[in-house]
Amino acid sequence: MTALLEASGIRKKFGTREVLRGLGLTAGRGDVISMIGASGSGKSTFLRCLNFLEHPTEGQIAFAGAALTCRRDRLGDLVVADEAQLRAFRARVTMVFQQFNLWSHMTARENVMLGPIRVHGLSKAEAAERADHYLARVGVAHRAAAYPGFLSGGEQQRVAIARALAMEPELMLFDEPTSALDPELVGEVLRVMRSLAEEGRTMIVVTHEMNFAREVSNRVIFLDQGVIAEEGDPREVLRRPSTERLQGFLAAQA
Ligand code: ADP
Ligand code: MG
Repeated sequence: MTALLEASGIRKKFGTREVLRGLGLTAGRGDVISMIGASGSGKSTFLRCLNFLEHPTEGQIAFAGAALTCRRDRLGDLVVADEAQLRAFRARVTMVFQQFNLWSHMTARENVMLGPIRVHGLSKAEAAERADHYLARVGVAHRAAAYPGFLSGGEQQRVAIARALAMEPELMLFDEPTSALDPELVGEVLRVMRSLAEEGRTMIVVTHEMNFAREVSNRVIFLDQGVIAEEGDPREVLRRPSTERLQGFLAAQA
């Protein structure tokens, strides 16, 4: 079976500094991949390169068996050459951010409606119906008419997840979705993510939640200084890390 996402040889330089030094990743349908590593190891940059929010300096990315054809931007980094191909790709791969990134002047429902209207051409009524469906899916249906400023962090992040779900994506990328939350609100977001994993969604999750990595994901990737230093079955890799770097990282998490 073809992989859903296949990235290889990803490198990224900021100026002369190379922060990603040749990474590859293959996600099959239904895979839940946790990406762990110290702050500054390149996790966000790698995740953002996977959907071209960041422009990789080198590398190839294929989605559902089709390579994304790239050209170089004026800095010499890679961008998807065909705007239509990029738009279609972005509609199938959605991202959830650490800081939620909701529009503050729109209600929760309006935030979720925006993508389906713009990208899928839904009418307002259709988009509202879809928004309410996904807001209910993440347990915040009763907050649909509220503005983000009136929601708790956990509610805001669940709205952001509903917004990503409303695109009915094939792959979801999460960049430390619980790191900005007060400790008592982390659980409600992790429960939603666990349920998404259980329904078979393909997810790549940058996280510091080792229990999530161990219990929910079927693969863990440990980044260290811009390379994948270790990867495999989380129960193996996290229990018996083979590098000193991962041993040290895990000890510091405990
Ligand atoms: P992580 O998510 O693992 O904490 P990042 O991917 O954010 O790491 O960052 C990796 C390295 O790249 C860090 O040293 C960071 O300072 C650097 N970096 C990230 N984004 C930029 C940028 N836009 N310009 C310059 N350096 C950056
Ligand atoms: Mg980061």
